[in-house]
Amino acid sequence: MNIAEIRKQFPILHQEVNGHPLVYLDSAATSQKPRSVIEAVKRYYELDNSNVHRGVHTLGSRATEAYEGARERVARFLNAPAAEQIIFTRGTTTALNLVASSYASSVLMEGDEIVLTPMEHHSNLIPWQQAAKRSGAVLKYIPLQPDGTISLADVEKTVTNRTKIVSVMYVSNVLGVINPIKEITEIAHRNGAVMVVDGAQSTPHMRIDVQALDCDFYALSGHKMCGPTGIGALYGRKSLLEAMEPNEFGGEMIDFVDLYESTWKDIPWRFEAGTPIIAGAVGLAAAMDFLEEIGLENIDRHEKELAAYAYSKLSDIEGITIYGPREGRVGLITFNLDDVHPHDVATVLDSEGIAVRAGHHCCQPLMRWLDVTATARASFYLYNTEQDVDRLAASLLRTKEFFGHAIG
Ligand code: PMP
Repeated sequence: MNIAEIRKQFPILHQEVNGHPLVYLDSAATSQKPRSVIEAVKRYYELDNSNVHRGVHTLGSRATEAYEGARERVARFLNAPAAEQIIFTRGTTTALNLVASSYASSVLMEGDEIVLTPMEHHSNLIPWQQAAKRSGAVLKYIPLQPDGTISLADVEKTVTNRTKIVSVMYVSNVLGVINPIKEITEIAHRNGAVMVVDGAQSTPHMRIDVQALDCDFYALSGHKMCGPTGIGALYGRKSLLEAMEPNEFGGEMIDFVDLYESTWKDIPWRFEAGTPIIAGAVGLAAAMDFLEEIGLENIDRHEKELAAYAYSKLSDIEGITIYGPREGRVGLITFNLDDVHPHDVATVLDSEGIAVRAGHHCCQPLMRWLDVTATARASFYLYNTEQDVDRLAASLLRTKEFFGHAIG
C-alpha cells in the first residue's frame, strides 16, 4: 500500500489545525472521505438528481439505476446472496433499531432471552432493552475476560435454548478487540437463536462475507468506511426479512392503499418508506469501490501493523493505561494517562493539530466495567502512518509535562 498516494486522495488531510499539520486519529467516530466519493456525490447532484422508483423521465430512471446499483454494490461488498437482502438505512443505529423493533417484536415472548455483551455500543444495547421491555424477554450478558475478550466457553454457558436473539459487535470501538463472530453464530444457531452482528467497526477494516459468517443480520455505517454520513445498510437473511413487518410507513413502501387497509411492496423496499438517501447510497457505492481497489486485505494488514506499532510505542509512556488485548485488535488504541482527564488529553493534543476522541464512546456499561468514567481514543485508518503515531506519542509526553508529571 502506498500511503503517500492514498493520502493525496483525501483533501481534508492536507491542512493545518492550530498551526500544525493535521493528524486525524478519530476515524472510529467517522472516517475522512476520498475525492472519488466526494466527486460521485457531486456528479450525482450535478447530472442525475431526481426521485427514484417513480419518474417516467430520464433523470428518474438514472437516479433509480444509481440507487439500485448501489444496493447491488453493497451486496457484492458483503457477499450477500442477493441485492434484495440489503436495506438502506441511516446507519448502524437505524439498522439495529429496525431488527430490534420489527423482527424482535414478532418473535419475542415473555421469558425469552436476548444475549448481548457488556462491551456493546449503546446502539446495540438500548434497542434490545426496549425490545425486552415490550415483550417481557430477559437480557443476558456474555461476561468479559479480564483483557476484554470473549471466551467461547462463556458463550456456550450464556446462550441456551430459551435464547431467541444473540447480538454482538464484530469489533469493539473501545477495546479494539475482534470478536469471534463466526463461532458465536454457530453457538447461537445450535440453540435455535438468530445472530445479529453490529458491523459498524468491522466493515471499514476487514473483508466481510456474510455467507461465510452465516449471520442472520449484519448492520453497517457508510460514514465510517469513507462514505457519506446518513447512509448505512442492514443485510438480512431472506426468509427473516420476508416475515418481518415494516416499522415505518408512508410513500415508496406500499403496494396497494385503501382508506382502511394497505399492503406492502416486496423486500427490501417495504423497509424504505419515504424518499431514500439516494446521493448517500451513490457515495457509499463509490466508497466501496475505493476500498476494494486498495484491497480490504491490504487495509487490514496496514492497520494491524500500525496498531502493533502504536501499542508498543504508547506502552513506553509512563503512567499510561491501554485498554483491551495486545493481540487480535484493529487499529485503535483506547487509553488514559494517570491523573489527567481524557478531555484534557484531547484538548492538549488538539492544540498540536492531533484529533482524538475523549469520552465514554457510547459505551457507558463498558466504562463501568473498566472502572473509568471516560477514556481517550486514537483510531487509525488506511491513511494514517507511523509518523502520525510518533506525533501522538510525542504530544502525549508533552501533555504529561504540561500537567506536571514526570516524563517516562
Ligand atoms: N456500533 C458501533 C460499534 C459503533 O462504533 C458505532 C458508531 N460509533 C455505532 C454502532 C453506531 O453507528 P452510527 O452512529 O453510524 O449509527
